[in-house]
Order: sequence, then C-alpha cells, then structure tokens
Amino acid sequence: MNKIIYIDLDGVIADFEKGKKNHPLGGITPYIGRPDKLPGIYEHLEPITDAIASVNKLLKKDNFNVFFLSTAPWDNPDAWTHKRLWIAKHFDEKLIRKRLILCHHKQLLMGDYLIDDRPFNGASEFLGKWIHFGNKKFPDWKNVLNYFDNLY
Ligand SMILES: [Mg+2]
Repeated sequence: MNKIIYIDLDGVIADFEKGKKNHPLGGITPYIGRPDKLPGIYEHLEPITDAIASVNKLLKKDNFNVFFLSTAPWDNPDAWTHKRLWIAKHFDEKLIRKRLILCHHKQLLMGDYLIDDRPFNGASEFLGKWIHFGNKKFPDWKNVLNYFDNLY
C-alpha cells in the first residue's frame, strides 16, 4: 500500500519568515507578534529553496500519496483561500488537486509521515513519523528527499 506523506506549508515549502519581514504592516499594532494576521500574508510567499522541485518528486513517486497539511489562522479567514491559491500557483493542478487539508489538529490525520517545521497544532503528536524540517537531521529539502529515496 502507498505510504501517505503530509507536507506542511509555512516554514517547509512557503517562506513565511521572509514574507513577514517584507510585509509593509509587519511592524505595526496589532500585527506585532501576530504575523499570521497580516492581510494577504499567505498569498505571495516565496517558495523555500528546493521545496517545489522536491515536492514534485514526491508527488510523482508511485509508492507515495502526498497531501498538504497546514493550519490556517482562525482569525484570518482570507488565509484559507490564499493557501489554496498558493499551491495552485506553484504546482501542476493535476498533481495537487484536492490534496490540501487545512486543520488545527494534525494528530487526528491517519498517515505515515508528516514533514513539519514546528510541533504545534498536533504535529508533535502525529501518530506516524514526524520529519522535523529544519532540525539537525532534516535541515533542508536535500536531506528530506534523500531520506525518502533511501526508504525502500
Ligand atoms: Mg510550519
């Protein structure tokens, strides 16, 4: 049976840190400390290095079933739309159609792997293997891809 891989968006394939820094309202109340509420922040994020090519490789592998699993801020409803538009902009529609899951409880999803940069919204309680993106073992996409290439 195909292995299910969930891939987080911000900090894994979308460069939220850079988007936050470049946003014109980033230093203004009420957005200080709440960058997730910045208007339009999720719409134009730049991809993280190697992320798009690497995710495409995983999407095209026969033995994996890949989904995007991200949390959209409850208090920024536009973000839910922008995340859907973001993946459509960066990936071939045929490969990613209906493969976006937005939720605050990632531990409830059944699957084998979760690639996520942070423990929040259930990521650290995920019942499969949590690939902690950005840590020592998985500092970048080269390491992640290498891990999946050598699994079988
Ligand atoms: Mg993240």
